[in-house]
Amino acid sequence: MIFDIEIIRSFYQTLPRKIKEIKKLMERPLTLSEKILFSHLYKISPVSKVRRGTDYVDFKPDRIAMQDATAQMALLQLMVTEKNHVSVPATVHCDHLITGQIGAEADLISALEINKEVYQFLASVCSKFDIGFWKPGAGIIHQVILENYAFPGGLMIGTDSHTPTAGGLGMLAIGVGGADAVDVMTGMGWELRFPEFIGIKLTGRLNGWASPKDIILKITGMLTVKGGTGAVIEYFGEGAESLSCTGKATICNMGAETGATSSIFGFDKSISDYLSATGRNEVAELASNNRDDLTGDPEVYANPEKYFDQYYEIDLSELEPYINGPFTPDRAIPVSQMKEEARRNGWPVRIDTGLIGSCTNSSYEDISRAASVIKKALSDKLVLRSEFIVIPGSERIRAISESAGFVGLFRKAGAKVFANACGPCIGQWNRSNNSGLKVNTIIHSFNRNFSKRADGNPNTYAFVASPELVTALSFAGDLTFNPLNDLIVNSEGKIVKLAEPEGQALPIISYSGLMADYQEPSSDKSKVEVRVSPDSERLQLLKPFREFREQDFLNMPVLIKAKGKCTTDHISMAGEWLKYRGHLENISENYMTGAVNSFNDKINLVINQLTKKYDHVPSVARAYKTARIGSVVIGEENFGEGSSREHAAMEPRFLNVKAVIVKSFARIHETNLKKQGVLTLTFSDMGDYDRILENDRIDVTGLKDFAPGKPLNMTLNHADGKSETIKVIHSCNEVQIEWFKSGSALNFIRKSM
Ligand code: SF4
Repeated sequence: MIFDIEIIRSFYQTLPRKIKEIKKLMERPLTLSEKILFSHLYKISPVSKVRRGTDYVDFKPDRIAMQDATAQMALLQLMVTEKNHVSVPATVHCDHLITGQIGAEADLISALEINKEVYQFLASVCSKFDIGFWKPGAGIIHQVILENYAFPGGLMIGTDSHTPTAGGLGMLAIGVGGADAVDVMTGMGWELRFPEFIGIKLTGRLNGWASPKDIILKITGMLTVKGGTGAVIEYFGEGAESLSCTGKATICNMGAETGATSSIFGFDKSISDYLSATGRNEVAELASNNRDDLTGDPEVYANPEKYFDQYYEIDLSELEPYINGPFTPDRAIPVSQMKEEARRNGWPVRIDTGLIGSCTNSSYEDISRAASVIKKALSDKLVLRSEFIVIPGSERIRAISESAGFVGLFRKAGAKVFANACGPCIGQWNRSNNSGLKVNTIIHSFNRNFSKRADGNPNTYAFVASPELVTALSFAGDLTFNPLNDLIVNSEGKIVKLAEPEGQALPIISYSGLMADYQEPSSDKSKVEVRVSPDSERLQLLKPFREFREQDFLNMPVLIKAKGKCTTDHISMAGEWLKYRGHLENISENYMTGAVNSFNDKINLVINQLTKKYDHVPSVARAYKTARIGSVVIGEENFGEGSSREHAAMEPRFLNVKAVIVKSFARIHETNLKKQGVLTLTFSDMGDYDRILENDRIDVTGLKDFAPGKPLNMTLNHADGKSETIKVIHSCNEVQIEWFKSGSALNFIRKSM
């Protein structure tokens, strides 16, 4: 079965005409990324005038993918629109909520019990709205997308940062917040600041211990965790063509660690081979017939400095394996320099645990290369000196690795094989060999190694490397071991040198045909019941927000005047709160609990104007809401920067915050607030921030004539009886004003249907 084959056929049928038209308008050769973006515009617009890194453009993606944690609120919002089905093909993948503990089977059984109500909810909503549902155990979102849905030249969004993985197959795939997914599911355009482009030419060929992972480890070191921000990284050159499709996917996956919007490779033979191996011969043929439109133009690759905003070259023949870390993925250390680095920094070098797999590195090639290291090590009578854990990326990979004998080999060496899920990569892991705050070292083939990510312990030194290097180092049990030169003593006291890894890009037997964990949408929707218990702590159906009926907002207390940096993390903290992602009322208990109150420099302590006592921000907000009083939040510059978390915009709306008035907004957060029906205003004079006093009551007037470009008035009624009126500015266009009047963008969509 090939998903969306009709859509894909029609896509390739119209692609040549679209690219021809774009080239005519642009009057210059195009990068692959431009071809994909311009062929997915939501509305025809003057493409030649779009400024990279500046203009916001609406796109029409071909597909949406959501993981189980982020899907909950996105689907709850979709239900508010009362639509019958999604406007764009979509899938949900149950991968984030499974804890790795004992082993695949036991862990899956336990996850099914613990997350039962969430899985049932997701399955039923998917069935009702025509969304494909991948059950727990099916695999990690990005691996399942790569195996089943990605197609060269397509554009997709996903509610997970590592969505760009599909770039390895030539699809431009971008990680977004839930609010963006809701927009696209409901038929709206998806807004993106038009990216800049970074060109990376790969020359030569990998050899020995060097792997695709080492390419991205080196690049992350070069660009740092910020260097790719706002850009798409486009790879080309004969070195790119020498890589397997899954190797390319690893590079695109971890491109997210540079902050890049996405990463992409052009269509070539390895992508075609992977499509065929995963049962998609027809897609491979269609793409082959459109080959020229699925790569950058030759003139671009011949003169990259002219067409890319940044350009680099990497010679794969000279690439050394890397180990990145600790605590950040951009600290790139060639394996030959680790002894010196570890000594100089005093890092603990004994490795407690080595982990391979995850959405980044669990391809057949990765597993086969790691297995080759194990096979040779066992025959040389070596034993694992570190705990060793394998996390297959999907059931297909696990099953095929089992048939090839790799899983048996891992178990024979003493490894644990966890469920096909995120597990330890996101801290869903009960470590058996570490407790409390013990200083220790782990090494894994995942993508992120920030402090506390893997196990919550700030003293865990986490390093990132290729699966084959992690395997070798787990036999040595030592972070400074360099398998290219160093020797190990085996169980008989003999000195042994590990052989270079060997592997195959694709299995000999077909990948296809393993669909047991997939649930198709129901053909009879009338029989599908979406159930959410009113007593549930994790899920709560959303009630549409009330439409705007007042003429003006009057007499509103200041809930908090936030001082300094106020990111979406300060507004809606993550961590333990993530379990309430599907329950707006419960998660609203974290609203602004990370922000500093400018009146007392304290976090989460504000005056309740009704009781004249200090209390937590959510408690005061609830008190105002119960008394049917709307409140105001004040902030400084770039308010709401950080990840596009829709909860940060839904919580104030739920808590009856009528307006957020700041020196400046981070654009995505401002748009998210507008979508939820919150009035977003900025001071016309930055100094007005200082005029706002703790016990002020605030009026916002002029809303009767709310119109684009027309400022509103804000009156500060001070406690001493004096008042002053200042101008405040808004950036709402006509549609956004309709969202506000309707109570939210979703209400507006429901009314317009
Ligand atoms: S394996 Fe890790 S990086 Fe990949 S989707 Fe899961 S949590 Fe995210």
